[in-house]
Amino acid sequence: MVKYCDICGRTIARVLQKHSGRALCDKCFREDLVTRLRDEVSRYRMFTPSDRILLALSGGKDSFVLLDIVREIHDTGKIGIITIVEGVEGYNRADDVFWIIEASRNYGIDLHLTSFKEFTGFSLDEIVSLDRLKKLETSPCTYCGVLRRRIINYYARSLGYSKVVTAHNLDDEVQTYLMNLLRGDEGRLIQTHPLSSTLSKFFIKRVKPLRKIYEWETSAYALTRGFKFQEVECPYIRFRPTLRAELRNYLYELERLKPGTLLKILEAVDRYVERELLKKALKLTELPQCSICGSPTAYSRNTCILCDLLGKIEINTKLPF
Ligand code: SF4
Ligand code: ZN
Ligand code: ZN
Repeated sequence: MVKYCDICGRTIARVLQKHSGRALCDKCFREDLVTRLRDEVSRYRMFTPSDRILLALSGGKDSFVLLDIVREIHDTGKIGIITIVEGVEGYNRADDVFWIIEASRNYGIDLHLTSFKEFTGFSLDEIVSLDRLKKLETSPCTYCGVLRRRIINYYARSLGYSKVVTAHNLDDEVQTYLMNLLRGDEGRLIQTHPLSSTLSKFFIKRVKPLRKIYEWETSAYALTRGFKFQEVECPYIRFRPTLRAELRNYLYELERLKPGTLLKILEAVDRYVERELLKKALKLTELPQCSICGSPTAYSRNTCILCDLLGKIEINTKLPF
């Protein structure tokens, strides 16, 4: 039997949104995502019309959805894109970023395309080889995450952007909240919340407008908009932290048994952080600066994680921040 859309009632439904119990047509599904993203942006004042925002896009479906919606709700003259090529053999970022180059041209958006090689002098593969030579066995994802954050902040700061916008979705965000809860890491729990303040004048605030959109919804949205996925996975994915991978599987199972669980967890932790923790965070002082590169670093540290990581593999360049 043909099922019509639960919102407009006129068009055949193509997307079953289990957490809301509704079947939606493509158009109403898209409008639902745009509305939820817009609401989240205004609820937490993630960015306002005067902000110059830098979208950090990797090239996957979440990037596509973020760009597609944000360019509709913000002045494209105040949007920039940064895309970073890590330099991993067999993981052809060139295919992933092709559409970003096209889209930035079509929409008249500034694109800052860079790479680990350009920023540090080394690709991620070369960094991992140096690490293995020293028998350190650091996860490539550790280098990758720390370097990516550094490069994005550097570009945002030096080019005068007021906000960094990332494409993390609901699944990512709940995993991060739970990891911090399980570790008892109050500081990071606060920093995950959209109202947290940056702890250094050198950091550009990062915001995540897709934080209440399920990952399956970004896939469905991208498909309905005709986005072609590049399915090649980074070969280093097997080195991703096991806790995150386990939580991801566990949360999928919970969501399958009770649709809407992820949203409920996110909203409950949001309320908890807003009620209990943000007041404490206001009393925190400015972060100290790394004695090597000058970048902000954790309160208990003398040097930053990036300098430590690169120092161990004898890359002794002083990177900007
Ligand atoms: Fe970087 Fe790890 Fe993701 Fe590969 S899997 S892109 S190394 S974070
Ligand atoms: Zn409809
Ligand atoms: Zn440093």
